[in-house]
Amino acid sequence: MAYNKAKIVATLGPASSDYEVMVEMVKAGVNVFRINFSHSSHDAAREIVDKVRKLNAELNTNIAVLADLQGPKLRIGTVKEGAVLKVGDTLTFTNKEVEGSAEQVFMTYQQFATDVKIGDRILIDDGKILLEATKTNSKDEVEAKVIQGGPLKSRKGVNLPNTRISLPCLTEKDLADLEVAMECRAEWVALSFVRNPNDVYQLRDILQKNNAPCHIISKIEKPEAVVEIDEIIEASDGIMVARGDLGVEVPMQGVPLIQKMIVNKCHLMAKPVVIATQMMESMIENLTPTRAEVNDVANSVLDGADAVMLSGETSVGKNPVEVIKAMSKIIAHVEESGQVSVREENPPRYRNKRFITDSICYNASKVADQIGAAAILTMTFSGYTAFKISAHRPKTSILMFTSNRNILNTMSLLWGVRGFYYDKMVSTDETFADIKQMVIDSNLVSDGDLIVKIASMPIHEEGMTNMLKISSISES
Ligand code: PGA
Ligand code: MN
Repeated sequence: MAYNKAKIVATLGPASSDYEVMVEMVKAGVNVFRINFSHSSHDAAREIVDKVRKLNAELNTNIAVLADLQGPKLRIGTVKEGAVLKVGDTLTFTNKEVEGSAEQVFMTYQQFATDVKIGDRILIDDGKILLEATKTNSKDEVEAKVIQGGPLKSRKGVNLPNTRISLPCLTEKDLADLEVAMECRAEWVALSFVRNPNDVYQLRDILQKNNAPCHIISKIEKPEAVVEIDEIIEASDGIMVARGDLGVEVPMQGVPLIQKMIVNKCHLMAKPVVIATQMMESMIENLTPTRAEVNDVANSVLDGADAVMLSGETSVGKNPVEVIKAMSKIIAHVEESGQVSVREENPPRYRNKRFITDSICYNASKVADQIGAAAILTMTFSGYTAFKISAHRPKTSILMFTSNRNILNTMSLLWGVRGFYYDKMVSTDETFADIKQMVIDSNLVSDGDLIVKIASMPIHEEGMTNMLKISSISES
């Protein structure tokens, strides 16, 4: 099985929901499967999660499920075949459920006319069509002038980069979808079109009230979110650079620098970051990616992304397994070069209640690199130390041992982290001996290697990692 440090998230869909295809994808290097609730029914989602759980049991893997909520995405209704918008035309958006044409189109969002102001830009179909609002009755109709035309197609998404949308981040549909995600114990839940940290806190509140062990990924795809990026990263467990919508909502040439800015901030705050959309787009049809796509994946890994994501490539593409193989090869090659961006030194600076643990994680990463250790071994129940060590990007493998099955899968998204199930907690000495044997048995280390182990002492002092031990592997 492929084992890279940067991880692969693959969206499931009609092209990839067969169990056998999923198995092949995992063997080729998938770490996280994404369910896109924009397209998935509740029953389909439940079936997929069952398959992931079965696959984990059969292949002895820890693949996580990422449930992606659609959020306040606006769409137009159905449109007659052949409708084409020309520059200078006027298109009327109406709340009435009409069949669309080049003159008028149904807007599913009922407060459209109260939110949109004259002069606001309206983009349709990933920005392929651009209009400017010229008139609104502030009730149920908006007129807009076509600035860039093209074919108007059914159910396409609408972006309003200059408009404050009154829809909550979690729509009624999202709340219903979230119920399913919690019932299935999805390890990660992604929130689309996050605008401010409050959006994240609202989701966190629901998860806590339901005792759901889901971690939150905020998708950055609105200009407001870029402005409040520090607070949003702080509030979230992970971030997705959702370049599809982001590149429509902000000038597209801004996206590469926003990507790098977000990756750097996520490192400093020890939150995993996923780079998404159009990474291997041409492989929806073709067996090989374009050179530009190879560069995009390689550069995202070089920047220091935790994971790279596939959407249409694996959900509806013709080559769901080949695209994973291609992506794995790119990641492996970049990582072998040893040129993945060295992170800024980020020792813990404040004596907060995690100061000792943070200090151990930082120094474990440093000492491991300095002595050329083969692995860092950590025991965790919450996953905290794995998040921290991963963010320091040590050269060595990060091996995490936990009795928490949910965390075991969750951590599959994190750069460099590899999880093992271990549930005996007798004494530090015994545990160290056990896990050392486990890594020897897994052929992850060999005779003469050095390993760095961190733990809490006494062992039952949960949540407080306070010791670091260096030892040498001798198999005799
Ligand atoms: P989506 O999010 O695929 O759910 O739209 C990703 C993006 O916008 O890039
Ligand atoms: Mn999006």
